[in-house]
Amino acid sequence: MTASNRYPTAALRASDSRHYMHPFTDYKALAEEGSRIIVKAKGVWLEDSDGKKYLDGMAGLWCSNVGHGREEIAEAVYEQMKELAYYNSFFKTSNPPAILLAEKLAELAPPHLNRVFFCGSGSEANDTVVRLVRYYWSLLGKPEKTVIIARQNAYHGSTMAGASLGGMQPMHAQGGMPIPGIVHIPQPYWFGEGGDMTPEVFGLWAARQLEIKIEEMGPDKIAAFIAEPIQGAGGVIIPPSTYWPEVKRICAKYDILLVADEVICGFGRTGRWFGSEYYGIEPDLMSIAKGLTSGYLPMGGLLVSDRVADVIIGLGDDFNHGYTYSGHPSCAAAALANLAIIEREKLVQRVASDIGPYFQKQWLALGEHPLVGEARMVGLIGALELVPNKPSRTEKFAPVGKVGTLCRDISFENGLVMRATRDSMIISPPLVISHDEADELIRRAKKTLDETYVALKKDGRVK
Ligand SMILES: *Cc1c(COP(=O)(O)O)cnc(C)c1O
Repeated sequence: MTASNRYPTAALRASDSRHYMHPFTDYKALAEEGSRIIVKAKGVWLEDSDGKKYLDGMAGLWCSNVGHGREEIAEAVYEQMKELAYYNSFFKTSNPPAILLAEKLAELAPPHLNRVFFCGSGSEANDTVVRLVRYYWSLLGKPEKTVIIARQNAYHGSTMAGASLGGMQPMHAQGGMPIPGIVHIPQPYWFGEGGDMTPEVFGLWAARQLEIKIEEMGPDKIAAFIAEPIQGAGGVIIPPSTYWPEVKRICAKYDILLVADEVICGFGRTGRWFGSEYYGIEPDLMSIAKGLTSGYLPMGGLLVSDRVADVIIGLGDDFNHGYTYSGHPSCAAAALANLAIIEREKLVQRVASDIGPYFQKQWLALGEHPLVGEARMVGLIGALELVPNKPSRTEKFAPVGKVGTLCRDISFENGLVMRATRDSMIISPPLVISHDEADELIRRAKKTLDETYVALKKDGRVK
């Protein structure tokens, strides 16, 4: 028996608003409206406590790559828990699932990344980045190389370092962030910020903001540049083709470590194992989480290149950093079972050459809708930019975000989970989504756009 079939929705909602402080939530609004209580899930389908079904267009929170309800992951974790549910990796101890997972990740990652530091989440992975890159430069006799350059509107997690690396204004506004030694440059967001430039020219412009910042602060002060290959939470911002090659060139020229935050892009989302491969990035460090376990248990990690590992191991002594749950055996067992499914079902190839192209064609066609200024997608991650006066890119809804929220609520009514970022609609479905389910997702998205458009016409918010 599970909790879900013992308690009525109303009792759960009342208790939820009395006791449970949700992440990223307006508590007064939640108390008034009540939460949607999800009780079970299978494949791409979610079910709430009233029995309503939803197509999970967000793979949970960008993480359920193999879909929900995979019993073989539950069984692998059950077997592991019976044998060794938990032990730590401090004091020269280790455990088989963590070892096997580290080996597996070294095999799957680009050839120059052969080591992993385990942690519990993407945020912790990025906290590790800050510690590790500064330690790296101090071991090389350059302790003044401490500054990390990140991007406006990036998302790197919610801990102090993660949120500081991130470029989210509303997060910085609470709690005294960014912490010292982290600076931000513009993002490669052509649709929103590209002005009259072509995407290619704008991509170069955005990359050169990195060079300008390095020159301004002095290369001897800069430790690393961190970025998501494709920005996820920022609104699925797909950089122009000119962006990454130029960033790579600049990092090499000034001897700056390049860190790819692969928390969303990793594990097949782009049709490659890692977004870095999709863009040819060759990073020195890669943060991973989410799709690593498909969310079955929490786990993250930082993949470390030979260049960095050689210094840390060769010149360093104690690395004074680690988590109680670094290399957690039960989480590692979940990750191994998850990766085995991705390999056996060839999900990465499926995104590259089957469901990816099949889905993209229909998603991009939604760009014809009068409410949609741009439809974009790579692999199985995409966005629709809602605009009041197509084809103008510069006219926005005011205030920003209301229309996105309306559209998201209508989408829920229509049994589809899409996320709203400002006035963009975001999807990132499980990689196992079938052709029929993809058709159904598109049908529901189209219906949602139509109904949103009608509602906006009624009160004059679209022309
Ligand atoms: C979700 C996310 C994180 C943070 O991961 P948590 O597990 O929530 O701490 C970091 N980076 C990116 C790109 C993410 O999408």
